[in-house]
Amino acid sequence: MAELSPLLKQATPVVVDHGEGVYLYDVDGKRHLDFTAGIGVTSTGHCHPRVVEAARDQIGKLIHGQYTTVMHKPLLELTKRLGEVLPTGLDSLFYANSGSEAVEAALRLARQATQRPNVIVFQGGFHGRTVAAATMTTSGTRFSTGIGPLMGGVHVAPFPYAYHYGWDEQTATKFALRELDYLFQTVSAPSETAAFFVEPILGEGGYVPANSEFLAGLRERADRHGIVLVLDEVQAGFGRTGKFWGHDHFGITPDVVLIAKGLASGFPLSGIAASQELMAKAYPGSQGGTYGGNAVSCAAAVATLDVIRDEKLVENAAERGRQLLEGARLIADKTPAIGEVRGLGLLVGTEFTAADGTPDTATAAAAQQTAAKNGLLLLTCGAYSNVVRMVPPLVVNAEQVDDALKIWGDVVASVTA
Ligand code: PMP
Repeated sequence: MAELSPLLKQATPVVVDHGEGVYLYDVDGKRHLDFTAGIGVTSTGHCHPRVVEAARDQIGKLIHGQYTTVMHKPLLELTKRLGEVLPTGLDSLFYANSGSEAVEAALRLARQATQRPNVIVFQGGFHGRTVAAATMTTSGTRFSTGIGPLMGGVHVAPFPYAYHYGWDEQTATKFALRELDYLFQTVSAPSETAAFFVEPILGEGGYVPANSEFLAGLRERADRHGIVLVLDEVQAGFGRTGKFWGHDHFGITPDVVLIAKGLASGFPLSGIAASQELMAKAYPGSQGGTYGGNAVSCAAAVATLDVIRDEKLVENAAERGRQLLEGARLIADKTPAIGEVRGLGLLVGTEFTAADGTPDTATAAAAQQTAAKNGLLLLTCGAYSNVVRMVPPLVVNAEQVDDALKIWGDVVASVTA
């Protein structure tokens, strides 16, 4: 009998039968409050009727069009619709299947367009698991251990993770920008640097929001040196943070936006958006793929955009995000083992810290496991896996947030008693 490979590490033992809204139902009929949303994917909730209908309808018409051979209607419609929500000027789209592929596509674009070899990433960033994307990932060595030699030309600058450094945000930001300038002088000259890749809020790295001063600093340096500023919105995009794009919180305009996860409610689809001018500098035909821009995924993505707009999910993410953050902070106030609670919209992280100030991985793991037993699915993140994150579907309502906070409060009390 075949078995699943131990290569996969599963956060819970749950075997799901079906999902509906913010709930997953397992094969024994137990209901779980899903505050993982498939790692920030099922933003419209599990099996939203409008997404299901759009996908069903499309399956009967065309499943696979193959976009380097023929074009199809859902891809053209999605491109038009994304044009309405993307930052001004980012009017050219390329599609792939996963976040990692979007990262690689942007890397290729930036190198071809600038004719420069290096990219700079920011410590704690997660960009994926393919070898290039894993090279660019610095949220934990677990993603790159044993697979080297990694790709050349990737250099790492600090991210303003104030709590980690034990500084206030302004000090951490000044440090991060000063170290970036030092990196330019000592490791990768601006004239050798093709791109910055940055998340508007570190996701896998521990739910650490960037800030306006830091991103303005990157924008200014990118403009000054002709470096491509790539915002990885794979986890933060499509309303997740309470604004349509994570970077909307910080008043900057990127050169490239990476999209995946929340784009298609669970169907595999990703993409990169840039200006026509930048895209025109890539070598025509140098990117593609068998499955990119799948017709059913695109139809589901169009329906996802409809649901986000019609159900005001961006606004809901902002309101429910505030409720969740405040509730999680009240629980933390009573708990010395919690060092910080932070987030943006419906990305809320609780960082566990031991009495001596070191990361408390064990308590975070116990909390996540106990929550799962009590019907609340959560994940951990952070370099030390000591941050428990809440990332529910954007359709979550006030009562469901209260239910989750009630379970979370009891869990935290029991694992820290
Ligand atoms: N970028 C970010 C910010 C992500 O959060 C992820 C996935 N967690 C990826 C890229 C990689 O996406 P995928 O797993 O679809 O390759």
